[in-house]
Amino acid sequence: MQKNKCCIVVLFVLVFFPAGIAYGQVLDGWITAKGHFCTLYIGEDVDIKQLNRRIDTYRVDFGLSERPLRLTSAPESEILYKFDLVFLKVQELLDMRPGDIHVDVRIYRRKKELDKLYVEIFSERGDLVAFYVFKLNTIFACEEKISVAVVAHEVAHCIIDHHFTVAPPKKIAEMIAHYAERHLRG
Ligand SMILES: [Zn+2]
Repeated sequence: MQKNKCCIVVLFVLVFFPAGIAYGQVLDGWITAKGHFCTLYIGEDVDIKQLNRRIDTYRVDFGLSERPLRLTSAPESEILYKFDLVFLKVQELLDMRPGDIHVDVRIYRRKKELDKLYVEIFSERGDLVAFYVFKLNTIFACEEKISVAVVAHEVAHCIIDHHFTVAPPKKIAEMIAHYAERHLRG
């Protein structure tokens, strides 16, 4: 039994920390960190400590049998841990576990930067605190408006889009994403 537990831990570490993992590298004006489910790109003008505080994952690990490990105590490492934790929890809540899921997450300082980006991507105005674009495989968010509920909502959209061969109607996808958001701490 003890030996099995040990094997599970070793396997888990291997699965969650592939070779080439990087923390805190600065790339073209973005602070980057790569985890299991996502690669973070944090704008250089983002207050990382504030960002970390805004993503409160209290009780998100409730009921989970596996958790990502924290590799360092650096704030970007902690944020990465929180995103991977939310991915695990939302997969569990939705009972959807698409294989090989790995997305980019770009976090800007202000919402107005997201609004500008939305126009550039969709050629229409948007008023969202965060959004996920399947064709870019990227979650876009901002320090100003982020919370763990926002992260869970966008992660759910990402999981839904990867899970179904044919994407469900938008209203259904929204209902599922709201479900994940609401039950995150349960
Ligand atoms: Zn949504």
